Amino acid sequence: MLEIAGLEKSFGEVQVLKSIDLKVQEGELVFVIGPSGSGKSTMLRCCNRLEEPTSGSIFIDGQRITDIPHRDLDRMRLKVGMVFQGFNLYPQMSVLKNVMLAQVKALKRSKAEAEARALEMLDQVGLKHKAGAMPAELSGGQQQRVAIARALALDPQVMLFDEPTSALDPELVGSVLKVMKGLREKGMTMLVVSHEMQFAREAADRVVFMDQGYVAEQGTPEEIFGAPKSERLKTFLSRVS
Ligand code: ADP
Ligand code: MG
Repeated sequence: MLEIAGLEKSFGEVQVLKSIDLKVQEGELVFVIGPSGSGKSTMLRCCNRLEEPTSGSIFIDGQRITDIPHRDLDRMRLKVGMVFQGFNLYPQMSVLKNVMLAQVKALKRSKAEAEARALEMLDQVGLKHKAGAMPAELSGGQQQRVAIARALALDPQVMLFDEPTSALDPELVGSVLKVMKGLREKGMTMLVVSHEMQFAREAADRVVFMDQGYVAEQGTPEEIFGAPKSERLKTFLSRVS
């Protein structure tokens, strides 16, 4: 569903990604770990062309998205749902309107259709009862679940998560992870950057360790956490867990 091949990215003189190869099969949850600055966010951002790769290819459902001309990027981005650390909800709009907006503007759905889909997705993240609330009335965990519902409402083929729980108080993390687990059970294809190692153990099909712009090691959660091979991964795991 998602294939990254020979991806390189430089900012000026600095090469941040050095030939990344990574595949996510349909319905797989692939988890990305690695030290700060190793290029995790840059890699995710290349997957919807928020960053322009310096070289290499990215395919989504067989389409080479690295070739798409700028005028067609918006349409491509609809296929790639992205959830960040900050929730970026529109503060002046209700939860329901937040989840409806892009459906109407970008997918040209009717208001009725968008509303029905929004309520369905809010139900999926356990927040249908908050449809009429304003974002500021919700906890951080609830806001992040609305952001997930908003992305899902556009029927993406892949969901990318960049540290979705890092900004949350510890007691709110679980509700967001639970939603992500539910998505996996429904067969969503997901690439997740996160430090929630326990979640990776429970929910990831594969774990990828990035270090200094490379995929340094990858394997099942059992392999990565139970029998790490490289010294750098061992050191990283001893620091985070
Ligand atoms: P991670 O998400 O693993 O912490 P990032 O992908 O955010 O790593 O960053 C990787 C490296 O790229 C860092 O050294 C960061 O400073 C650099 N970097 C990221 N974005 C930019 C940018 N827009 N301009 C210059 N350097 C950047
Ligand atoms: Mg990052």
